[in-house]
Amino acid sequence: MAEPEAPSATLPLAFPWHEPLVKQIESAWLKDRLPHALLLHGQAGLGKRRLAEWVARGLLCGNSRDQLDACGQCNGCRLAAAGSHPDLMRVTPEEGKHQLSVDQVRAVSEWLSMTSHQQGWKIAIIDPAQLMTIAAANSLLKTLEEPPARSLLILVASSLQGLPATLRSRCQRLGIPRPPAAMALKWLSQVTSQTVSPQVLEFTGGAPLRALEVHDAFVSLDEEMRSSLTDLLAGRADVTRVAQFWAKEAMPDRLTWLDLWLMSLAREAVAGTGDLVTFPGQPVPLPTSANVLNISYLYRLADRIRELKSQLLRTALNRDLAAEMLLAELLTVFTRRQPG
Ligand SMILES: [Zn+2]
Repeated sequence: MAEPEAPSATLPLAFPWHEPLVKQIESAWLKDRLPHALLLHGQAGLGKRRLAEWVARGLLCGNSRDQLDACGQCNGCRLAAAGSHPDLMRVTPEEGKHQLSVDQVRAVSEWLSMTSHQQGWKIAIIDPAQLMTIAAANSLLKTLEEPPARSLLILVASSLQGLPATLRSRCQRLGIPRPPAAMALKWLSQVTSQTVSPQVLEFTGGAPLRALEVHDAFVSLDEEMRSSLTDLLAGRADVTRVAQFWAKEAMPDRLTWLDLWLMSLAREAVAGTGDLVTFPGQPVPLPTSANVLNISYLYRLADRIRELKSQLLRTALNRDLAAEMLLAELLTVFTRRQPG
């Protein structure tokens, strides 16, 4: 079984926006009322995996204390941080696989039923839990019906859709909230010396860890999108060539960027001022004909973009053609030129 590594030590395990959940889990622990299974769910980039790790390390810490926060010094803490604690199992898809197999889940159940090495908790983190096959989820259900004493299963999921309702109902579900933008930006300014703009945060759907990760890539994408749109709208660029380039590189990111850009234009058009515009950081010069932008066209175009984005995830698509049609539609909205 693949043994994933413990998360790196450069960032803490629990973040400010985790605080309500941290308090909830800590209070259950203090009352000795922890459930046998936690389901931590929320969008990517909110630190679900780290919170799971925070809980695990807190339970495995050998020092007695009145907070769940691990001491970080004792033998248990050192082993957990090194990824070699015998009572902590981290389960992710095996290399080259996109699913968690029934064999992996059976191994977890067997392992959980054995006595712990340190006479304490045994904890298994299953991540991402939504990637369990149906057989794997069913097998886990049996363990959840008769959980071994002092065992904790932590399921980490970015989506609840792939998880059977019977499984979900046997776990305590804890949704990781998206932090308010001000909290996220303050946290980002504390953990990195780079300036992470509100645009990057918006681009990542408000997920601070993701913003930290994609910051550099966003800066170049933003610059490149603005200059290529400026050229396109001024009639200085070849539509087919731009479409081919978009199709080839980072198409989903480009679509997210376009969606946010259109929405900021729509907000500006509705408000009649630029006050509400938060995306992008720098304006794209619009052709004169776009002075009277039709808002319903903007929304329709944004809908097309979202539809295309979900198609990219689900189906094999002729990306060149899809990108070219989208650009033609965009030019029609902004320059009133007929596509084709
Ligand atoms: Zn400790």
